[in-house]
Amino acid sequence: MSPPFSVCVYCGSREGSDSRYAEAAVATGQWIGSRGGQLVYGGGRNGLMGMVANATVAAGGRVVGIIPRALVDREMANEACTELLVVETMHERKRLMAERSDAFLAMPGGIGTFEELFEVWTWRQLGYHDKPIGLLNVAGYYDPLLAFLRTGVQAQFMGDWLMDLLSVDSEPAPLLRTLVESAGMSAAPRLDGL
Ligand code: AMP
Repeated sequence: MSPPFSVCVYCGSREGSDSRYAEAAVATGQWIGSRGGQLVYGGGRNGLMGMVANATVAAGGRVVGIIPRALVDREMANEACTELLVVETMHERKRLMAERSDAFLAMPGGIGTFEELFEVWTWRQLGYHDKPIGLLNVAGYYDPLLAFLRTGVQAQFMGDWLMDLLSVDSEPAPLLRTLVESAGMSAAPRLDGL
């Protein structure tokens, strides 16, 4: 049976300094897994990436990990994935991650995460896709970035409609629901045993 929805999660290959980042990663995986959903992510075992993936699998979801061959050792490819795709290039990884997903969610992370968020956002700006994009602003991590983006709008380098393409929330559950429902998918919890 195919999963009811597929969400691509971009997040840190490190855990970060605040335990709330890890809590949000686990809650995200649990939300996806408990609905029988599919997580698409970068395929690593480290940091928040590994936490989201492991929590998704543990809650009964499907995990597609997509990792470039050159990073299999460095990012410790996650054997817990339901499907682990080893690809030749970073471009192939990002293209497949985008193709296999109905929506995108960026959580706290570093420059790899920023790059991935901005790429799908700019692709949406250009009309290359129309999939919803969310930013999980755990513990105010992204407050300075959001302030800078408003600077970009005020300076008229960005239309304010661009900000409307990004759903922002501090909590995983309402944001995931918004993304999945905006993609036209069902975010209903799975009714086990019925
Ligand atoms: P980070 O947020 O820097 O911890 O990285 C999170 C993920 O982004 C990791 O899986 C990295 O392999 C990936 N990443 C790092 N650099 C890039 C890049 N230039 N393009 C796409 N993904 C990247």
